[in-house]
Amino acid sequence: MTRSAVGKCLCGDVRFEAQDVPETFGVCHCEMCRRWTGSALLEVSIPEQSLVRHGKEHIATRQTSEWAERGWCRNCGTGLFYRVTMAGEWSGSVDIPLGIFDDPNGFVMSHEIYIDFKPDSFAYAGEGRKQLTRQQCVEKFSLLGNDPADASQGRIDQGETT
Ligand SMILES: [Zn+2]
Ligand SMILES: [Zn+2]
Repeated sequence: MTRSAVGKCLCGDVRFEAQDVPETFGVCHCEMCRRWTGSALLEVSIPEQSLVRHGKEHIATRQTSEWAERGWCRNCGTGLFYRVTMAGEWSGSVDIPLGIFDDPNGFVMSHEIYIDFKPDSFAYAGEGRKQLTRQQCVEKFSLLGNDPADASQGRIDQGETT
């Protein structure tokens, strides 16, 4: 099932509209997501072609790994997206933080990754979702090698972060 969604940054200079938004979201506990968000990245993956952004001139980006960049609002600093830049199956996949949706209700947490990097001081409630360690992520996405064709299959670094 998918739905439409709208959202915006803290100051409102950057807004998005999207169709084909899945009703599930994932959580990444990797070190980079932890530092970027201050907690964990709760993200909804949206196909880039289903996404319309307004206020693009206010968006700053930084390439944070060989295969992905992160974007934020220059004016207020809100983290706006994680986007796969490398060619391949996941190219153009955009992860939007659930927290910037105008209505973040009704989504189901489907998986947590880098679960072994989750701070021991907090945990999300509920059961039945997948939890992958960093090593399981590396194996799942076949990133043990440095083959860019393999790296494009997923968002998982062979290091500490995605
Ligand atoms: Zn802003
Ligand atoms: Zn991460």
